[in-house]
Amino acid sequence: MSYIQVKEDSSIEVPDNTTIGFIEGDGIGPDISRTAISVVNSAIEMAYKGSKSIEWRKILAGDDAFEKTGKHLPQESLDELKRCVVSIKGPLTTPIGEGFRSLNVTMRQYFDLYANVRPMKYFPGVPSPVKNPEKVDMIVFRENTEDLYAGIEWRYDSEEAKKLRWYLKDNFQVKLTDDTGIGIKPISRFKSQRLVRKAIQYAIANRRKSVTLVHKGNIMKYTEGAFKEWGYEVASSEFRDQTITEEEYLKGTPTAWRVVMKDRITDNMFQQILTRTDEYDVIATTNLNGDYLSDAIAAQVGGLGIAPGGNIGDVYAIFEAVHGTAPKYAGMDVANPTSLILSGGMLLRHIGWTEAADILESAVALAYSDQKVTQDLARILNVKPLLCSEFGEEIVKRMKTVS
Ligand code: NAP
Repeated sequence: MSYIQVKEDSSIEVPDNTTIGFIEGDGIGPDISRTAISVVNSAIEMAYKGSKSIEWRKILAGDDAFEKTGKHLPQESLDELKRCVVSIKGPLTTPIGEGFRSLNVTMRQYFDLYANVRPMKYFPGVPSPVKNPEKVDMIVFRENTEDLYAGIEWRYDSEEAKKLRWYLKDNFQVKLTDDTGIGIKPISRFKSQRLVRKAIQYAIANRRKSVTLVHKGNIMKYTEGAFKEWGYEVASSEFRDQTITEEEYLKGTPTAWRVVMKDRITDNMFQQILTRTDEYDVIATTNLNGDYLSDAIAAQVGGLGIAPGGNIGDVYAIFEAVHGTAPKYAGMDVANPTSLILSGGMLLRHIGWTEAADILESAVALAYSDQKVTQDLARILNVKPLLCSEFGEEIVKRMKTVS
């Protein structure tokens, strides 16, 4: 095994024949993983003609792990994900019980994968519910570790909820009725700023036009509003020479290129992504906003079967299909593997193998423009559906044309 090495400054050193972890996933996971891995391997082969390759290391998680070990996410799997540093995963069923809410949340917390990154771009040929889907070219950086997702909540009739209601009444004159459940929304300066920093660094490295801070600070001033303030603070204190506020920008276009820092209130942003689509580029937002917003943007470019995702921290990264396990299609080789294939493209970019990522993405685009699609889209386009594996083969065939 040639594992990725982590250097002192947390950057990674990737061997030419590198080991990458993969979790097959439940339901349609094995079908889409098989196809995605073969597409990624072909892109690498096409780009580097044998001088680079991936040795895929299968890591047990989900139903597969439960059958073999009695646990959905055994410690050995977490250890192996750690050794691999960079991994990719298919969708996992959320187990009931076992003391945690979801395997995905567990992995995000264990490896401190604080940024959920979702790039969304339109491929001509994909059916879309909007008139100008080609205007979508956005990448959402969603905070992954705090907010209402931190899981700090109590049922209305629990001792904890009762105590909190008393405490709020006795100390702050906040009166809540006895049938009130309570959830807590923690948003911290450190976690907000590291997320916004990642989004700005991405915008600078990729010469993007703007970073929009999406928040509901008009109502939740000290959590959502603070996220916005802390975001601007990062831009002005750490990236003064590479960023400009929207206000400054509107006073006069700067002579040199700068990332424009904007902010939008969440409900307005949902309207803006439809009405002023091409004015938005990189988006940085809190956990719950990001959850809703990334699915809404994904819908414009063809839905969750298409959009890729990655959970990225300062050291570790796990790329993933953003949809679920679609159990009714399990083992039928009919699911759309695009989300996982494009997540493979994100992984290639993350490890610096951009030539292979470019080939992979261009070949996917070409397959779509030739109306080569799986059943989910074939039924909308009224064309013959391809199996999941056949769709992968069509992508691979097109790599020669685009390389
Ligand atoms: P889902 O698995 O995403 O499936 C809902 C529907 O979306 C499917 O019935 C199918 O629609 C369509 N679909 C999703 N992915 C598709 C693909 N790749 N190709 C074609 N069609 C696709 O959502 P769910 O039914 O709510 O969740 C099922 C399980 O997945 C749950 O256990 C949930 O916890 C888990 N989950 C895991 C993740 C993750 O691991 N990241 C994410 C979400 C959900 P049609 O029926 O219209 O064909």
